[in-house]
Amino acid sequence: MTYQKPIPLKDQDNKAYWNAADEHRLALQKCNDCNTYAHPPGPSCARCGSENVVWENLGNDVKAQIYSYIISYRPFLPGFQDDLPTIIAQAQLEKVPEVKIMCNVLNCDINDIQIGMPVQMIWEDITDERALPQWTPIND
Ligand SMILES: [Zn+2]
Repeated sequence: MTYQKPIPLKDQDNKAYWNAADEHRLALQKCNDCNTYAHPPGPSCARCGSENVVWENLGNDVKAQIYSYIISYRPFLPGFQDDLPTIIAQAQLEKVPEVKIMCNVLNCDINDIQIGMPVQMIWEDITDERALPQWTPIND
C-alpha cells in the first residue's frame, strides 16, 4: 500500500530538518549569533536577521508537553479523511521550551488530550526513504 497523503517537500530551508527526520532524529535550526532557535526554519534568523544559522541535533529521545491543541473533524488535506477526528497540537519541547512544534498527536483518544500532557516524538516511516515526525502520549 503506497502512502496516500502529501509527502512534505524538502527545500533549501527545511532540508536539514527533513533529512534528520528520515533518520529518526530531530534537528532544529539555531542562530549562531544570537542563539535563537527557529522552527519552522528559514533562510535567516527571524530575531536578528543573521544568516549564520546552524543545525542542532536533538537526537531521537525528544519529549514535550502539549502547549495547545485543537480537535479537527474535517480533513485539511487529501488522504486524512480516515484519521478523523484528529488532534492537531503545539508540542513545547522539554529541552528547548522556547520551541513549539505544530504536530499531530497519535494513539490518543480525543477525550484524553489535555494541556500539559507529556508526549514523545516518534517517526512514521511513510516510504523507503521518508519518515514523518509524530507524537504519542507518554504513558507512565
Ligand atoms: Zn539571530
